Amino acid sequence: MFDFTAGALCLDFVNTIGDRGRPSTEQLRTPADLAAWARQSGALAPGGVKDLTGRRFRPSRRGAEVLARARAVREGLYRLFSALAAGAAPAPGDVAALNANLAQALPDLRLAWRRQRFEWHWSGQDRLDAVLGPVLRSAAELLTSAEAARVRECAAPSCTWMFIDRSRTHRRRWCSMQTCGNRNKARRHYQRVKQRASDGSPSTAVSTEQARR
Ligand SMILES: [Zn+2]
Repeated sequence: MFDFTAGALCLDFVNTIGDRGRPSTEQLRTPADLAAWARQSGALAPGGVKDLTGRRFRPSRRGAEVLARARAVREGLYRLFSALAAGAAPAPGDVAALNANLAQALPDLRLAWRRQRFEWHWSGQDRLDAVLGPVLRSAAELLTSAEAARVRECAAPSCTWMFIDRSRTHRRRWCSMQTCGNRNKARRHYQRVKQRASDGSPSTAVSTEQARR
């Protein structure tokens, strides 16, 4: 149901809306959607997931509040990463909001001894908003890592997905070749055909370009 290919949990969360200009691409429509994302992402330990999708999280006023907060956190992260991808400075308000949200989430972070080693563990996993802890920590880690310079926003005009460009050449433009990349290829092809038709002659530029690929 959800996509987890962005390269970081925080960006997968940012990508739970396809295009910020089209509200119909929203995937987090109900508190149950948020619970489903928490389960599928593995953001919370399996033990907590049962509670997340259980009785306590049927749509309620509290659930709606948590969903609204989750979306606000998501949009704040989008603005931060989008600015980063564009080589711009983040808005001070977005940095302040990130710090406020981190301060709210981090008191739930613990170390747990499991399977002969220490692991990070989030307490309070029976609360729906606990899903924001792992997301915010992922964002803080990415923002301060070397990979921060590789965060990209999809080049398609109708897509606001973010991803980490781990391609060899660091020139990846699309969130996915299967969707936006292919659509762009089809559009360019259509424009070339149209151009050729209006020129009235087969364009050598086309074959040269095709040969280059
Ligand atoms: Zn895209």
